[in-house]
Amino acid sequence: MKYTLQVFTGSWHDAHEQPEKILGRITEISRRIPVERVIVGWNTDPSLYRTLGHGLRRAGIQMLLWLPVFTEVREAAETEEALDLAGQRIVPPGKQAEEAFAFDCPSSRRNLQAVKALFEKYFSDCGFDGVFLDRIRTQSFAAGVSGVLSCGCARCREMFRKKGVDTETVLKRYRQQKDTFFDLADYPMDGRFTLKDPLAQRFFEAKEEIVAEAAAELCRYFKEKDLIVGLDLFAPLVSRFVGQNYTKITEYADFIKPMLYRRTEAPAGIGYEYVLFEQYAPGAQGRIRLTAGRELLDSQLEAVRSASCEVYPGIELNYHKNLVRTDADYVTDSLKAIREHGFAGAALCWNIMEVPDAHIDAAAALE
Ligand SMILES: [Zn+2]
Repeated sequence: MKYTLQVFTGSWHDAHEQPEKILGRITEISRRIPVERVIVGWNTDPSLYRTLGHGLRRAGIQMLLWLPVFTEVREAAETEEALDLAGQRIVPPGKQAEEAFAFDCPSSRRNLQAVKALFEKYFSDCGFDGVFLDRIRTQSFAAGVSGVLSCGCARCREMFRKKGVDTETVLKRYRQQKDTFFDLADYPMDGRFTLKDPLAQRFFEAKEEIVAEAAAELCRYFKEKDLIVGLDLFAPLVSRFVGQNYTKITEYADFIKPMLYRRTEAPAGIGYEYVLFEQYAPGAQGRIRLTAGRELLDSQLEAVRSASCEVYPGIELNYHKNLVRTDADYVTDSLKAIREHGFAGAALCWNIMEVPDAHIDAAAALE
């Protein structure tokens, strides 16, 4: 098995760990398990990547830039925010607008341009072998129903209309039906659910097309620069809520890292996202009962095969006493499952600098 490691260096202009320290940690780990590539970002300090890249190249390890797409960019560039279907700012229930975890519009040329411009300005001379695009999606139920029913800016409404979806009718339907808008005819474990209301169903399909078109454009842009392009995706079970269709979004990518996080009580955690669906549409019929055991992982490992590119299943190795209660047995079970399903590699997420040694020991014991 070959491993991809992830290192978070802090946001654009934050203080960061010294590159020598990061390189030391990766070197130490690569003596114990085979490391193929490192995803690192998205601090803008070039000296970080020059030092790190030099050391990684000597060790035959690829370095990819971790780059967020529809969040975070607004801190470093002008972007256009995603709106709900009423054309208003998306404010998560119980939160004030100013503390909302804001997403940007997936159809905005300016937003895609901002990602490209940030790459050119800060990262194009840093020796990266590729880019890893994160948050290439809409809001999830973490921002309530209006997060999932987005983007409703004028341009997106027009795009939906061209795809046969009148978003005004969608909004009206949701307001009339409330939870039953989300009634399910079928909810298979691969996440390709069918809503009973054909209009509601078509909305989600059209949203997947809009997000896939944005992904395609960025993939093509970076691939023309001879860069490897990877995508960070929600687990299949919850990916349709955020507009990620495994077959469509992966068409121009080289690889994906599905976030198969069963112990993460934060956005992108499978159970966390699923429970939010239950919380915001408690009356919706046809839901499945979800358990966080090995069978959930097995089902997701089968489902990710619908991707059109290579797949490196991502397992969270971070530990946090409230948010990410991982342990060595969880790491062992998860990595064993990935091997048994025949994958050639896995990603150890999402910040190797914060992974307990016992978790690395568990991975090394399988070699
Ligand atoms: Zn929009």
